[in-house]
Parts: sequence; C-alpha cells; structure tokens
Amino acid sequence: MSDSTTQIQLEGNPSQREVVEQYLQRIPSESMIEEDRIAELQVEIKAQLIAKNAVIIAHYYTDPLIQALAEETGGIVSDSLEMARFGNNHPAQTLVVAGVRFMGETAKILTPEKRVLMPTLEATCSLDVGCPADEFSAFCDEHPDRTVVVYANTSAAVKARADWVVTSSIAVDVIDYLDSQGEKILWAPDKYLGAYVQKNTGADMLLWNGSCIVHEEFKAKGVLDLQKVYPEAAVLVHPESPESVVDIADCVGSTSQLIAAAVKLPQRQMIVATDQGIFYKMQQAVPDKELLIAPTGGAGASCRSCANCPWMGMNSLENLLSCLENDSNQVTVDPLIGEQAMAALGRMMSFKSS
Ligand code: SF4
Repeated sequence: MSDSTTQIQLEGNPSQREVVEQYLQRIPSESMIEEDRIAELQVEIKAQLIAKNAVIIAHYYTDPLIQALAEETGGIVSDSLEMARFGNNHPAQTLVVAGVRFMGETAKILTPEKRVLMPTLEATCSLDVGCPADEFSAFCDEHPDRTVVVYANTSAAVKARADWVVTSSIAVDVIDYLDSQGEKILWAPDKYLGAYVQKNTGADMLLWNGSCIVHEEFKAKGVLDLQKVYPEAAVLVHPESPESVVDIADCVGSTSQLIAAAVKLPQRQMIVATDQGIFYKMQQAVPDKELLIAPTGGAGASCRSCANCPWMGMNSLENLLSCLENDSNQVTVDPLIGEQAMAALGRMMSFKSS
C-alpha cells in the first residue's frame, strides 16, 4: 500500500467483527421450505405481482429460487448498480427488492414516488453496520479538503454525507476520473476495495476501516491449494476480498464483471471468490464449465458466513410473498436525507465508465 493511503481505526468502538457478531445473534434461523410448498409459493407470488403491479429486483447473492422467479416474472437478477438502474426505469409501481437494506433504500431514493417493499428489513450488511452515519460525518468534518466517495453498501444517511456513491463495477473508473481532476479522496467503508482501487489508480485515498464478513474470509493459501488440484482453473475474485487473494486472481471485478470473465476466459474451471449465490447466474452463462467456490477458513470462519452472506440468506420465497400480501416491510427514507443522497447517487447513475 502506498504512503498516500491511510487506514482509519475506530478507536473506542467495538471491532467490526464484534459489531457483526452482535447483529448476527438477532437474525432468526432460516426456515426450510418443504419441496412441495415451493411451487405453491411461486404461484401465489406471481399472482400477487400482477395484482400489485410489482416487479422483483433480486441480487445475485439471494436464494436461486428467488433469482429464478425474478427472471420468470420479468424482473431482474443483477449487481447493485443494475438493480438501481432497473428499478429506476421499470414502469411497475411497486418494487420488491430482494437483497439487503441499502439496496431497498437506494431504490426508494431513486424512485420516491414508488412503493419499495423488501422480504425483510432486517437484512443489512457488515459494511453498512460498520459505518455509522454520525461517526462517518465527524470523520468527514475532520478532512474537509477531501472528496467523499462511498461504496453503495452504506446507509442513506452516509450517502447523504457523500459527494459520490460508487459500486464495485465503476469504483476504479470514478476514482481515476477524480484523481485526474486533482482531487484527494476520503473513501468508505470497505478497506479492501479501497486499497484495490488505490493500487489501480494511484489516487490519494484515506480509507475507512470497514470490511465484508463474507469476502474477508477468503484465503490465498486455500485458493492456491485448490489450484494444485485444479491447475488449469482460473481464479475470479471480488475486490472486497483481502489483497493477498486479489493478487492471485486472473480477474478481479464486480459480480457482473466476474460472470462476464467466466464467459470470456478460456479455462474450463473457475475458482470463484465471492458469495456462492452467484453460481446460479454464472452457471447459466457457462453451462459447460465447472465452478468451484474459493475456500474460506481461519478463526473467523463459520457455517453462516463461509461464502454465504447471512443477510442475503434472510430473503426467502415465504417472506417475499408475505411482504406482497400484507404490503409490509415498506422501505422509507427521510425525504431530506433522500434528497441529499440523491445528489451523490445521481453522479453514480450518470457516470459513464471509460
Ligand atoms: S456479501 Fe458482504 S458486502 Fe455483500 S451484503 Fe453481505 S456482508 Fe454486505
């Protein structure tokens, strides 16, 4: 990491992992859906979508059953940037956002006139949890000379404090552009993505100390060990992963970019370092290739977090139907915060990647 990059420690606060562990204890256990109930739920959801003039906008990391239903009913399965664009452009009056809370908030900010429902409002993200708006705002106040760029995985209030919002698919291009304008950057919240962007742009970046509990657990040694078994396999890595894993990748990119790389690369096997939910769409794109999940491990590993986002896993067909039937779990954003966040989001939406 260059001298121009600094990481900020949140002194006096619980560690990232402590914050996340406290939060995870509140998440109810996932209920298993009986096989014969799935078809019934699908039929009921389809009927509700028509009755409510609604469309499903699902993230790649959600349950494949939800992804399949989104596709089948004219919705979309995509990364957070395309989710935002789709919701903004689609004529449906109700958007059902299957993902995590910041995605629902982004949809609401972009289309305040629409009703935005989520299967659960409890689904958040360790990056969002680890970047409280008040602490982040104070941090920004300490560095008034820096342009504030935040990752999409943040609350509406944090976005409202930012000059720019970016997703992983355009982060390098946006920072490269800002650097060419001579701007110094304050980046939050993901330290790994920030370091990756800094390395690829040479920009002067001050980094918030946040991380994704899913991607943080991929281990370079595990990937290299797997490559000994599959020596021809390409390695695809999401840039929320640690630098040691990014360094051994054949492709580093957002979820959409990783799927595109799986198609483009000649290898027949892919070792994939991102949430396993992506395998549904990736396998569709490369039906003849073998997809292998990158190993996780170490002290922080658990069955709830190994390449499966616990919050994305809170979305199910059952709670998706419930929010439609009951008009529940409506996403609300304070209008003033929404207006302020829209300025930074608007720059993201209109930015044309090089
Ligand atoms: S996979 Fe990581 S970055 Fe994505 S929603 Fe889950 S915790 Fe957040």
